[in-house]
Amino acid sequence: MTMLSKLRAFYRRVVPLSIRQPLYKIHSFVFRPIVKLTARQSYHIQVALVDHCNLDCRSCSQFSPLAPERYLDISAYERDIARLRELMPQLRSLYLFGGEPLLHPQLLDFLTITRKYFDFRTPVAIITNGVLLLKQSLQFWQICSDNHIELWVSNYPLKIDYQQIEAMAKQYSIIFKYNNTFQDNTVAWGRWPFKNRGGGGVNCSVPLV
Ligand code: SF4
Repeated sequence: MTMLSKLRAFYRRVVPLSIRQPLYKIHSFVFRPIVKLTARQSYHIQVALVDHCNLDCRSCSQFSPLAPERYLDISAYERDIARLRELMPQLRSLYLFGGEPLLHPQLLDFLTITRKYFDFRTPVAIITNGVLLLKQSLQFWQICSDNHIELWVSNYPLKIDYQQIEAMAKQYSIIFKYNNTFQDNTVAWGRWPFKNRGGGGVNCSVPLV
């Protein structure tokens, strides 16, 4: 355990959640934009943990419905992320996506490895279609919370209990966003005239329903 992780663990033990949560919000909405503006090198990295998906969207920008089952090798990831850290101490942001990243059986290890090399100044998010979120163990929510991993969910017209997902994220002080929702809270896919023909959200598109 590094000195930084020990300090983090100590902070989480002594500072109650009710105080940590507003502090993290201040960090996210005030200091993070300043850091972004002043960072000398500011790269955004996206890593596909798997190529395949558990949905079958008609205009998937990742071509996941056609992709074979493929899981990113965790040792290759750690080697690459360690090298990335040597080259730049901080990133603008790092997204873990797919396909559907929750299909990777070592997802939790990817989260902790990412934070081992990039501290809280680098926003880290999982981009997911949300189908498997409520099937995750409590350990998943705890690890996301402890490592300040954000959850970005593509809000599709599926029978998913989004309110329950939001409640879990709130309970664990996890920053939660809809990946395909505009600032006025309308869902991207709902704005497209040909909503059943794909061409949906910011990163994902409309599922075949
Ligand atoms: S658009 Fe997103 S949810 Fe749909 S198949 Fe592609 S990766 Fe999966």
